[in-house]
Amino acid sequence: MVHLRINGMWEVYDLSHRLSIRKGSRLTEMEGAVNCVTPYLRDRKGRLRIFKIRPIGHITNRTLFKGGIMAITLPELPYAKDALEPHISARTLEFHYGKHHNAYVTNANKLLEGTDLASASIKEILQKTAGDASKAGIFNNVAQVFNHSFYWQCMKPGGGGAPSGPIADRIDAAFGSAEKFVEEFKTAGATQFGSGWAWLVLKEGELAVMKTANADTPIAHGITPLLTVDVWEHAYYLDYQNRRPDYLSTFVDKLINWDFVNSCLG
Ligand code: MN
Repeated sequence: MVHLRINGMWEVYDLSHRLSIRKGSRLTEMEGAVNCVTPYLRDRKGRLRIFKIRPIGHITNRTLFKGGIMAITLPELPYAKDALEPHISARTLEFHYGKHHNAYVTNANKLLEGTDLASASIKEILQKTAGDASKAGIFNNVAQVFNHSFYWQCMKPGGGGAPSGPIADRIDAAFGSAEKFVEEFKTAGATQFGSGWAWLVLKEGELAVMKTANADTPIAHGITPLLTVDVWEHAYYLDYQNRRPDYLSTFVDKLINWDFVNSCLG
């Protein structure tokens, strides 16, 4: 058993009794397997109960930070595994989310157990371990948990196309046009040698495109991510084989969730 602490307001459903617990109950303590989306909570009488928890609003890393959850967890996908077809197959998500992302969560928790970072937030862990060769295992696994949790939310069925909402004007101002942004974003993804990520970020208040290698992530460097695309081969190889540029074009044209990008502008 691993003890977790949760601060903030959460909706709680008692799965063991199929009862809806008071909406907005304030939880202070939870215990259970951390690599689990249905953790166990003790009720007031000390009985172990199975609950399903979710934050008010959608599960995003931002919400997790705001809520102060102090654990590495595998968030539920924001859509069904076949919802992004034909652009990204259910088979890709079964491996990418179910195997790769899940393994990063398991490994991160194993490596963190018993260390002074065990109860730290993801952001805190990344900022404290970035560049420390002796903590590379923790950094890589925790960064990949963050990056993947963020990436799933950057996509939605029926997404893609021209930016909408406040981000549209910000992109025009920063890059000249949406087309120029797309060109820069796709180039970053296509030219990331080997594994890594391409990003739209907010850096010192300005929009910018950047790429990171392997597990590296903007939040380790105090930069706010707004959008990311995973360019590790495991993200696209089953559907696109070696055609990374085709995957990037499809991501932009058919998948980007601009509502999520706008929510990250704050
Ligand atoms: Mn990946």
